Amino acid sequence: RLIAPQEQSSEESVIDRAMRPKRLTDYTGQKEACSQLEIFIAAARNRGEALDHTLIFGPPGLGKTTLANIIANEMDADIKSTSGPVLEKAGDLAAMLTNLEANDVLFIDEIHRLSPAVEEILYSAMEDYQLDIMIGEGPAARSIKLDLPPFTLIGATTRAGALTSPLRARFGIPLRLEFYNTADLTSIVGRSAQVLNLDIDREGAVEVARRSRGTPRIANRLLRRVRDFAEVKYEGRIDKTVAGEALGVLDVDSEGFDFLDRKLLLTIIEKFGGGPVGLDNLAAAIGEEKETIEDVIEPFLIQQGFIQRTHRGRVATDKTFLHFGLAKHS
Ligand code: ADP
Repeated sequence: RLIAPQEQSSEESVIDRAMRPKRLTDYTGQKEACSQLEIFIAAARNRGEALDHTLIFGPPGLGKTTLANIIANEMDADIKSTSGPVLEKAGDLAAMLTNLEANDVLFIDEIHRLSPAVEEILYSAMEDYQLDIMIGEGPAARSIKLDLPPFTLIGATTRAGALTSPLRARFGIPLRLEFYNTADLTSIVGRSAQVLNLDIDREGAVEVARRSRGTPRIANRLLRRVRDFAEVKYEGRIDKTVAGEALGVLDVDSEGFDFLDRKLLLTIIEKFGGGPVGLDNLAAAIGEEKETIEDVIEPFLIQQGFIQRTHRGRVATDKTFLHFGLAKHS
C-alpha cells in the first residue's frame, strides 16, 4: 500500500534516515511538543543531568524516531535504539541497560509491546537507576542488584492507551505528536526535494503535501514516486499538474485516500447504512485486522472528520457521503 504510514523496505529506511532532520530547529511543525522540549532540554543541560524519561505517542510516520534522535543530539548524548518486540527476555534489556554511559538515551520503539517480565525490570531502572534481576534457575537462582548510570528512557508508541499505568506513570515528559497540516508538510516536502536535488515548484510541493495524510513518511514516499513519474514523462520537472497526474495514476485521490480508505468508508455506507458499525464487524467486512483499522487506517479519517467514533461504533459523516457523491438515507 503506497500510503501506508509504516516503513516499507530497507531501502526506504536508508532514505528515511538520510532525510531525517538532526536538530530541533529543523524539526518542522509539532510546535507544542517542540516548545516543551526546548525548555526541558535546556534545563537538564544547565543542571548537567539526564533529561527526564520521555514518552512520545502518535500514529506511525509522524516523527517519533526522528524526535528521539534529535533529543539525544541536543543533549550531546549517545542513543541506543531497540523495540518492544525485540526485547524478548529480561536479559536482553539488562544487556542494553548495562551498556549505557551517564546521560545516554535508550530508545524503545513500540514500547507498548514489551513483555511483562521485561517491563518489570524497567520500573526500578527508570525510577532508581537500579537493575534488579534474577540470575540462574531453581534453588541456585538469586537476585542481583546493579547500579546504573543516570539515563533517559525515550519510549515511542502508537497507542498510548495500550501502556500499563505503572509504566506510563514513570515518564516525566509525555509528548503527543499530531498530524501535520499542509503548510508544514509542504516545507518537509521542500526540504526533502532539496536533499534529493529535485526540480519542484511550490504548487507541486503543496499538491504532494495535501495528499500525504498529515504524515511526513508518506509525503517523502509520494515525493519519490512522483519524481519517477516526472523523470520518465516530464524531464524531471514537478509542478502541480505533474504531481496531480502522477498521484492519480498511483491511485491516491484528492484527499490522500487510496483503495483501502475508500473500501472502509464505502463499506460503512453501503453495507451498514452509514453506521454505527462495531470494529469487529467492520474488520470482518473489509478483511483487515482490527489493529490495522485502529492504528493505521482510521486515525487520519477520524481527524479529518470522515468517520466518527461513537460508543455504538463507527459512523460515516456528511463529509463522507459528500466525498463519494452519495445521498444519505434517513
Ligand atoms: P515514526 O518513528 O513516528 O514512525 P519517523 O521518525 O521514522 O516516524 O519519521 C518518518 C520520516 O518522516 C523520517 O525519516 C523523516 O524524514 C520524516 N519526518 C518525520 N518528522 C519530521 C519533521 N518534523 N520534519 C521533517 N521530517 C520529518
